[in-house]
Amino acid sequence: MDYQQILNDIEIEIQPLFDKGKVADYIPALGEVDAHQFGMSITLFDGSVYSVGAAEKFFSIQSISKVFTFTLALKYLGAELYKRVGREPSGNPFNSLVQLEYENGIPRNPFINAGAIVITDTLISHYKSDSKAFDAILDFIQSIADDTTITMDVVVAISEMEHAYRNLALTNLMKSFDNIDNNAITLVQTYFNHCALEMNTKMLSRSVLFLANHGVDPITNKAYVTKSQAKRINAVMLTCGHYDASGDFAFKVGLPGKSGVGGGIIAVIPQKMGICVWSPALNEQGNSLIGTKALELFTTKTGLSIF
Ligand code: GLN
Repeated sequence: MDYQQILNDIEIEIQPLFDKGKVADYIPALGEVDAHQFGMSITLFDGSVYSVGAAEKFFSIQSISKVFTFTLALKYLGAELYKRVGREPSGNPFNSLVQLEYENGIPRNPFINAGAIVITDTLISHYKSDSKAFDAILDFIQSIADDTTITMDVVVAISEMEHAYRNLALTNLMKSFDNIDNNAITLVQTYFNHCALEMNTKMLSRSVLFLANHGVDPITNKAYVTKSQAKRINAVMLTCGHYDASGDFAFKVGLPGKSGVGGGIIAVIPQKMGICVWSPALNEQGNSLIGTKALELFTTKTGLSIF
């Protein structure tokens, strides 16, 4: 299959969509990003990489980090985790408060904000401090990406903390139900810090290879999670990775995937490759509009999907 040609064709086909969608401006630092950008990369099991567009350009990974924190928490806490966070699609926006109230402070899944905040809370308890938890998250991401240069964009992290009203509300609501153990402010800051990590599509397509290969990195042979845990992470990505558009993403793309409000989306083709696409303008559910289209074109053109 001529992957390079397919990526080049996709870049041409998405051009008319550039005036659609809107960059996330509820985090002011993200609102300043130029919407007219696109990059896409795939990394195969033998390490070969195909890219198009701004594949080297760093962007804020935002909720993509939730896949990595969920992976870490699952690794250390195992099934105990599901006492505090579920694994069902929420059918609600990523930052919604209503469901949490009537479901007694137990978030539906690890990929909505409330669920990811609980996951970060478990990691702070496990590593015994917020800074150690952050270091462990960063270490893990650097390991799966095989790249020690990954860092946090401090400007984005501060900008989000200055407008943290909703995430603090979610955290405090869960604390009132006894589902948060650590200090709400440092917890939310730690959550923002891992959301503010900067990566590019090349790095991210590389970093999800272990999920395409039953938990074992096919290039370094490092085992990160068990086969069964890898299956579950992919399943939750498929059913919950795009919030209230998860069904639509599965319908159009047919792959486990996870989006972030920075405009990135990662996706996994089991036994074949890791994929990442980035374009900052978002659709109404907060997922990259062009990114979703590019992935739909990719699975259509290659015939590769899980279905
Ligand atoms: N840090 C962002 C927030 O909490 C992450 C949301 C996202 O990427 N969907 O709002």
